[in-house]
Amino acid sequence: MNNIFGYTLEDLEEYFTSIGEKKYKAIQVYDWLYKKSIYNFDEFSNIKKDIITKLKNDFTTEFIKMEKVLEGTDVKKFLFRLLDGEKIEAVLMEHNYGLSVCVSSQVGCNMGCKFCESGRLKKVRNLETYEIVEQILLIQKYINKRINSVVLMGIGEPFDNYANIIKFIRIINNAHGLAIGSRHITVSTCGLVPKIYEFSDLDLQVNLAISLHGATDAVRNRIMPVNKVYSLDTLMGAIRDYIAKTNRRVTIEYVMLNMVNDKAEDAIALAELLKGMNIYVNLIPYNETKNIEFSKSSKERITNFYNILVSKKINVTIRREFGGAIKAACGQLRSESD
Ligand code: SAH
Repeated sequence: MNNIFGYTLEDLEEYFTSIGEKKYKAIQVYDWLYKKSIYNFDEFSNIKKDIITKLKNDFTTEFIKMEKVLEGTDVKKFLFRLLDGEKIEAVLMEHNYGLSVCVSSQVGCNMGCKFCESGRLKKVRNLETYEIVEQILLIQKYINKRINSVVLMGIGEPFDNYANIIKFIRIINNAHGLAIGSRHITVSTCGLVPKIYEFSDLDLQVNLAISLHGATDAVRNRIMPVNKVYSLDTLMGAIRDYIAKTNRRVTIEYVMLNMVNDKAEDAIALAELLKGMNIYVNLIPYNETKNIEFSKSSKERITNFYNILVSKKINVTIRREFGGAIKAACGQLRSESD
């Protein structure tokens, strides 16, 4: 049986058409699920009994389990257990402009970035669409507030689970669904080039972030195995194509690794690489993890790097640090709890 939270509105419309019913029933169902938060089909009072019986036969509304919540200042980390026993995590961040959730897209990750904790566990499987949607629903229920923005930056490589994350985006973005505005949704990729091209052709207005972390093949090869498949040059080509097609600004993520990619010459190379492009750079202070050989750049080195970019007219910000104390920060999420 299929979990109903994996269905886009269009999927549900097709379903109703296929059983000989009117398409607008899909909107009614969405309204119960996403606006009224009623998950028991029997309570769908504007829907006829025989259709409810069909719904009950064809769909489940089973939820993944919220197993543990760690609370820090302005941040909460949620450990979820999936119905097959696998575990994933999501993070809620309270910004002054609203509540943002960072969701996982896979159990484990195969990208193998050397500095990232999530990648130490090989991918077990992709998340189903409903498993991504339910992370949001359960967090909203837990805090009893509406989520304003969503980033696909938890465990996993979203573009390695492309079809499911696109459905997820459509579901949360839909005005009859969670109605999270497309400008408030960000997908982050380590650089799966063919999917960036596919993404450029979609009718979605969501933000794209690229985990670049290096301005040369030498640096990227050392820390991100994906670069051996899609070199920096091919990646930059895809980003340029995306910007040309969508006319949208791309976020370039750059994690600051002491003595690896944070030297003055790295900043100069980065500025050169990005010159004239519609991008902004987000410098990410590295969160050290106990198992890994990299260390964080000092404040001075980050400031110095930042200043070089500014002097070269590159838009740049330094990411606010979140969740370190409860291991909820970037690169610290795992599919096993410690
Ligand atoms: N796989 C996708 C989604 C993960 S996003 C991607 O690579 O973009 C998580 C972001 O945090 C990525 O930019 C990742 O490179 C970065 N990151 C990973 N480990 C980190 C760490 N220990 N400290 C800070 N950022 C880290």
